[in-house]
Formats: sequence, structure tokens, C-alpha cells
Amino acid sequence: MRIKKNDLVKVISGNAKGSEGKVLKVFPEGGRIIVEKVHMIKRHTRKQQNRGGGQQGGIVEKEAPIHISDVMLVCPKCGKPTRTSVIILGDGSKARKCKKCQEMLSEQK
Ligand SMILES: [Zn+2]
Repeated sequence: MRIKKNDLVKVISGNAKGSEGKVLKVFPEGGRIIVEKVHMIKRHTRKQQNRGGGQQGGIVEKEAPIHISDVMLVCPKCGKPTRTSVIILGDGSKARKCKKCQEMLSEQK
């Protein structure tokens, strides 16, 4: 996955186009991610009768997953939406490099 948890991303297509947010969760199998405050959907929670006779329940807003191809990584160094290239370091570990400013992006372990 070219996008990792805690990355800042910008949405480039779909309903949420133009918004930016932090990646909260990555689903590698489906190629989908959850981005903070992006693609909010309303979920109805079930009403429950409580002891006072009142009712609880209502609508909760929650992030829905979006496809990874709908976002671009925002480079933490130059602040621009960018593509990354993967480089192999001397010790064999991989790191991502911003194609705009050529800065190496720190890897999250
Ligand atoms: Zn950059």
C-alpha cells in the first residue's frame, strides 16, 4: 500500500473531492482507507427503551471508507499532493520519496 495510517491525504475524485484529512485506517485487501472527517455518512442507531421510559438513539455521523485511488498523499515536507516512489535503503528497508521535492518521507513502522 502506498498510503499508510496517519498519512495526510487529499481527495482528488468522488463526492469528497478537495478535502484533506488524516488516514485513520487502511484496508489493504479492498484497497480502501478511512480518512478523518472525509466521506461522513449518517448511521441510524437503534432506539432502545430505557428505564425512564424515554428513548435513546438517533443519528451518528461516521467516516465511510473511500478508495485509495481517489486520494493523493500530501507530502509533509513540501505540503503538496504528490506521488511517491519507493527507494531501498542501504539496510534493505524501504522508504518513500516525494516526487515533487525529492525529500524522503519517514516510514511509519
Ligand atoms: Zn514533497
